Amino acid sequence: MSTDQQGPGAPESAEPRALRVGLIGAGIQGSRTPAMHRAEGAAQGIALRYDLLDTDLMDPPGPAIGALLDRAEAEGYAGLNITFPYKKAVMAELDALSEGARRVGAVNTVVFRDGRRFGHNTDRWGFAEGLARGLPGAGMGCVLLLGAGGAGGAVAHALVGAGAERLLIADMSAEAAAALAASINAHDPGRAEVAPDLAAAAAQADGIVNATPMGMAKLPGAAIDLSLLDPRHWVADIVYFPLETALLAAARARGCRTLSGAGMAVFQAVRAFELFTGKTPDAARMRATFESMGA
Ligand code: NAD
Repeated sequence: MSTDQQGPGAPESAEPRALRVGLIGAGIQGSRTPAMHRAEGAAQGIALRYDLLDTDLMDPPGPAIGALLDRAEAEGYAGLNITFPYKKAVMAELDALSEGARRVGAVNTVVFRDGRRFGHNTDRWGFAEGLARGLPGAGMGCVLLLGAGGAGGAVAHALVGAGAERLLIADMSAEAAAALAASINAHDPGRAEVAPDLAAAAAQADGIVNATPMGMAKLPGAAIDLSLLDPRHWVADIVYFPLETALLAAARARGCRTLSGAGMAVFQAVRAFELFTGKTPDAARMRATFESMGA
């Protein structure tokens, strides 16, 4: 067990008054989120303890999210980040949801306050903020989204919130694409549609966003034929391991404006830090911590 593998059931901390927060998820040892929170807390003089609650390493592995939340709350945690596979399941354990979390149908940040549990989705805000800062003025007439899974849902709602007039959604699972389009259209009728033909969709799109796992170190390649990229497209990827995916490399070679997955990863943490501590973090400092952890 690693030294930061603390959490519900762990011995009392040497810093009893530290603000305790953490990340619950399966297989999270490589996450850069703890380092961003710890470094920002230290820079602001906040005694903050960020624990990795890796459910793969618990005995038995994969406990129910409700039991984990009960124990964390009883032990005085101020809040938790939540990741795979608990982002939807955790919603049943909360007292209130932010508008963003309700729309996306997933929670990645829980705040414990006054005996109540509040759920937020900072992935949605994180992608939107990264897009606004990294690709200012990006055309929003028509956007092609590749991937309608957990992260794709947050991205889709962020894109519509950022003004996408038409959102074309492609996924190897037709059901996933249709479900996400329906979720968007429930709030913004007529904005989203399933895109069964990638060539036709790319021809109409101003921008293309990858929210599939394609391009990750363990899944090399891209979810779209790279010859469909055109210099007029802006291209964003949310994969961040590696930051330079085949999609982004090809897009840059074609002269497209591009955005890496770092923005979403950093800004989801920026917003979560604010929710946990009530303090405004220095986003550039958190990004520097993220980047210091390797490409
Ligand atoms: P997920 O498994 O919930 O969803 C992935 C979706 O992509 C699925 O619906 C799947 O059917 C679809 N898909 C896979 N390959 C495809 C292909 N070739 N063509 C079309 N569709 C395809 O995963 P997720 O939680 O949504 O995460 C997706 C990726 O996003 C992760 O691998 C991770 O790299 C990245 N991510 C980044 C951030 C960030 O902060 N930057 C946050 C979360 C996830």
